[in-house]
Amino acid sequence: MNKILFVDHTAVMGGAEISLLDLATAYSQTSKVMLFDDGPLQQRLETSGVEVATVKASETLLNLRTSGGLNSLSMIPELWNMAGAIAREAKDYDLVLANSQKAFITAALSALRGSPAICWHLRDILTAKHFSKVNRTVAIFMANRFASRVLVNSHATGKAFVAAGGKEELVRVVYNGFESERFDAVTMEDCQEARDRLGMGNAPLVGLFSRLSYWKGQHILLEAIRKLPQVHAILVGEALFGEQDYVSELKTLAELPELAGRVHWLGFRDDIPTLMKACDIVVHTSTEPEPFGRVIVEGQLAQRPVIASAAGGALELIEDGVNGYLFPPEDIISLRQLIDKLISDRTLAKSVAQQGYEDAKTNFAMETILKSFAQALVLD
Ligand code: UDP
Repeated sequence: MNKILFVDHTAVMGGAEISLLDLATAYSQTSKVMLFDDGPLQQRLETSGVEVATVKASETLLNLRTSGGLNSLSMIPELWNMAGAIAREAKDYDLVLANSQKAFITAALSALRGSPAICWHLRDILTAKHFSKVNRTVAIFMANRFASRVLVNSHATGKAFVAAGGKEELVRVVYNGFESERFDAVTMEDCQEARDRLGMGNAPLVGLFSRLSYWKGQHILLEAIRKLPQVHAILVGEALFGEQDYVSELKTLAELPELAGRVHWLGFRDDIPTLMKACDIVVHTSTEPEPFGRVIVEGQLAQRPVIASAAGGALELIEDGVNGYLFPPEDIISLRQLIDKLISDRTLAKSVAQQGYEDAKTNFAMETILKSFAQALVLD
């Protein structure tokens, strides 16, 4: 088993960090995680028996936006110091695996300061929407020059890396893995209790499980159910990286007379399997291509019909009409029609959900994914 120094710049629990937690837990006997900040991930790792080293970066570095331009270059002196810290932490490990773009740039620089092999677990689609040109150019240059491997969380992520100039031979696809047992363990009583707490009786319930952010498209769901007066929605997640203006807009939308009382704000939750199973439908509404889309697989494992926005990794997870449904990104009317159809035709909803469950269990079992992860890190 490889001795891995995992590195992440953030300790906030986004999808990338949840996946890191799974991988680092599986490698806890031989590996360690270095974080640039403290936060919930640190405690979660330690509780799972993973050794953690936190080397705090400045607020300026932590808050630097990947969409920012040349001002990123002003961070070079600090990045150089952090690279030194990675090289020191990495001396007893076989390889450094960076879990985020900031972590990767820093890890790549640490190669100049004596680090072992550097690999990048790329979990973002490198497009102009989220990453400035400077940012993409630097990341691709560093990957081509210093990375021994680029693990990508979907073919879509891999294609975008290559389209931006990344070397194809570096790329290995490693999907996220899931423990279906967490979903199977949820009882009918747990679901009923979760619904009772919402105080919405037996009304149809649609769930969206994502941080509150414009590109995650919570507004698309609210617009879709605006004209489905019997349907309630739960929004599970909070604004992890700012975006308070978007949250205010969403709240204003939810207070419109047509929606009032039907939108339930649950904040960030740890009981995702129960909440998904309490829903009739799980939706994914990203306005931009999703690199992977953990919530899609989780919805399938919860045995609920999933409707996802047809772009990026979602196209690798859902076969339309077979194990879930796809709708064109931002197409409110199509989403509304699909919700309506699945609520009216429970037999159809059940059969699609069942196929989704079987496919997710086969394709994304943690054990299988851990094998592909290990294989991807065999460096020639
Ligand atoms: N999630 C969670 N609590 C919440 C909302 C979301 O634990 O309140 C989890 C969700 O179950 C999923 C992850 O956060 O595992 C989000 O991953 P995804 O790939 O969907 O999106 P990302 O955050 O990586 O953009």
